[in-house]
Amino acid sequence: MAGTTADGVLILTTGGTIDKLYFDALSTYQIGDSVVGSLLQIARVTMPFRLVELMRKDSLELTDADRSHIAGAVADTPERRIVITHGTDTMTQTAQALAGIGGKTIVLVGALAPARFAESDATFNLGMAFAAAQVAPAGVWIAMNGTMFPADRVRKDRAANAFVAQ
Ligand code: GLU
Repeated sequence: MAGTTADGVLILTTGGTIDKLYFDALSTYQIGDSVVGSLLQIARVTMPFRLVELMRKDSLELTDADRSHIAGAVADTPERRIVITHGTDTMTQTAQALAGIGGKTIVLVGALAPARFAESDATFNLGMAFAAAQVAPAGVWIAMNGTMFPADRVRKDRAANAFVAQ
C-alpha cells in the first residue's frame, strides 16, 4: 500500500479469474491471494491507494447479499476513486447494483486469463482501471478490452470472449 488518503484510490477485490490459481484436470481452480497489490508494486505506483479484499468468488457465485456488501463498501468509504476487481461473467450485474451511488468514479475490471498466467490481460486491464479511476467522470465504468465502457452500455460477448458496446 502506498499510503492512504481520501484522494487516493480504493481497490476492492472480489475474486474472479484475475486472481485464479489453476491446478490439473483432476482438480479445479481456486481463487488465491490477490495479485493486485504486487502488480501495483511492480509498476512502482506512487499514487496513494488502499487495497481491501471483500471476497474471493467466481462472479457466477455472487449473491444479492454479496452485491449489497460491495455497494456498501463503495458508499461508506471516503475515497471517491474506486477500482473493483471482479469476475467478468456478472460484472454488469454488480455495476447495476452500484448505479445509485453518486459522486464517485467506480471502475470495474477483471481479466479473461489469470494474472498468474504469462499471457494475461490482467496487468493491462488493471493499469487502465487505475488510471481511469483518476480521470473519468463520476459514474460506473467497465475497463475491459482496451475500452472504457459506461457500465450500462456494455455486455460480455461470451463467444468472442470480449466486452462489446450495446
Ligand atoms: N466465471 C468467471 C467469473 O465471472 C468468468 C471468468 C472471469 O472471471 O472473468 O468470475
